Amino acid sequence: MSIFLIVADDLVSMKTPLILLVCSFFLSSCLEGIFLSPEEGCNFSQYKGQRVAWNNLPINLFMDDGTNELQRKAVTEAVDAIHKQHNKIFFNIVMGVTPSLKWQKAWGNSATIEQDGKSGIYWISTTWPKQFHSKQAITRTRWRGASIIEADVIINASAYDFFLKVAKPSGVDLKSLYIHELLHVVGLKHIKEDPESVMNPVLPYGAQPQRRQLSSIDKASLDCEYK
Ligand SMILES: [Zn+2]
Repeated sequence: MSIFLIVADDLVSMKTPLILLVCSFFLSSCLEGIFLSPEEGCNFSQYKGQRVAWNNLPINLFMDDGTNELQRKAVTEAVDAIHKQHNKIFFNIVMGVTPSLKWQKAWGNSATIEQDGKSGIYWISTTWPKQFHSKQAITRTRWRGASIIEADVIINASAYDFFLKVAKPSGVDLKSLYIHELLHVVGLKHIKEDPESVMNPVLPYGAQPQRRQLSSIDKASLDCEYK
């Protein structure tokens, strides 16, 4: 504003102050972009001091309607659990696409999934790459600036057995796994210091305690960004 006043003192035309006023408006929003005050991390990744997160909710999650029933139920239950426990709508499940085909096609060239602008749920039973053999699932998140633009969840059904209702000694609780991966989609990182967190990187097998309840740290972290 002080820049505007100094220059305006020398003006003779009435049109020029208007132009300067517009310039100063853009200048201030531009400066704001450069000098945004740093945000608390709150267990999110950060870009230039800002939490990396979605600008708009809900996130459309695309899922192949030809996928198996266990997977559909587990995703739906995990989404419902997050919504109920946090009293906010993060996801909108969209059925009817065939994302797994795109994944398998892209897999041969590199260990990443094809970016198609859609956040998808992928169930891979045959083409999981050897270097990620021990991983139960991978979530790939892409962002521009501090804005997430796509996040894909890929489940390793080639090496793991899963269950939803009745625990299997050698199986993985699929609902717990999806709650974890879906919170990666939202932007949360692993939370190792809280053994109760659903974002703990290790999910035990079988009949051991399942991780279906968001901890107070999980909720507080989400609140930082998506109040
Ligand atoms: Zn994880």
